[in-house]
Amino acid sequence: MKRETILIIFYILTLGAIFIIDLTVPLGVAAGVPYVVPVLITIKTERIIDTYLIGIAGILLTILGYFLSPVANGVPWMVIFNRLLAIFVISITMFFVIDRKNSEIKIKKLNKELQQMVHTDPLTGAKNRLAFIKRITEEIERAKRYEAPLSIIMFDIDHFKKINDTYGHNVGDNVLKGMVKIVEEHLRKSDNLYRTGGEEFIVILPNTDIEKAEIVAEKIREAICKTKFEKVGRVTISIGVTQVTEDDDEDTVTSRVDEALYRAKNTGRNRVVTIKA
Ligand code: GH3
Ligand code: MG
Ligand code: MG
Repeated sequence: MKRETILIIFYILTLGAIFIIDLTVPLGVAAGVPYVVPVLITIKTERIIDTYLIGIAGILLTILGYFLSPVANGVPWMVIFNRLLAIFVISITMFFVIDRKNSEIKIKKLNKELQQMVHTDPLTGAKNRLAFIKRITEEIERAKRYEAPLSIIMFDIDHFKKINDTYGHNVGDNVLKGMVKIVEEHLRKSDNLYRTGGEEFIVILPNTDIEKAEIVAEKIREAICKTKFEKVGRVTISIGVTQVTEDDDEDTVTSRVDEALYRAKNTGRNRVVTIKA
């Protein structure tokens, strides 16, 4: 049974038990006050509506208890006063719990935004190096566990310094932004692209062997060199590709793909070089 369902059953049973006690045992000053307990317990669920419903149910049962409880026939004014006091206490508790839940919701939302921010590159919107390290470690573990292929692609813009020097840093920035957009359009899942350095990027390709990764890399290379970037015109990239093996960890696989990229640069740029481990 789901935790939420168990809690709902628990609330109903608690409300019922308190109501029966209220009807059978004269509660005096305490009449209705025990309804605070199920209201307080709603703190355990995320839904604010639970607190409202249980609180309102408690208030209604306190009023109903006044008419049905034997004490009501005794000293009505004292009983009315006590029950009003109980309703007041239930309401206060209800609003305290709701306020607390609202704060928790806000904190959770902020936390999510913060996580997003910490792992995102503000210029291009791609995931950053920190996100890459986290993800590659997880993916390597997963690939080993399920014996699934896992490949990575690393690319770097050719002669990017010249672009900056010729057209200025802002134009260079626009090239970076445009490049991320193009590469993401060519990926199955856009969150697999990471900006790991100034003008250096990595793509993680889960469930992809080196042959398929090479095809993806070639597609990316072609897409970039076909694009005319504003002011700059054509830009090329060099790409390294490798596949993760049994003995790899994040460092060995990153240095191998880096070596592949280095070879691509040294053999004329605007090309894909693959290194099989
Ligand atoms: P290579 O073909 O060998 O990669 O040459 P390169 O000029 O691209 O390589 P190099 O490492 O010499 O220069 C990289 C340049 O990238 C230098 C740096 O100013 C620039 N760069 C790094 N980060 C940013 C950025 O966020 N915005 C801009 N506009 N330029 C950046
Ligand atoms: Mg470069
Ligand atoms: Mg570089």
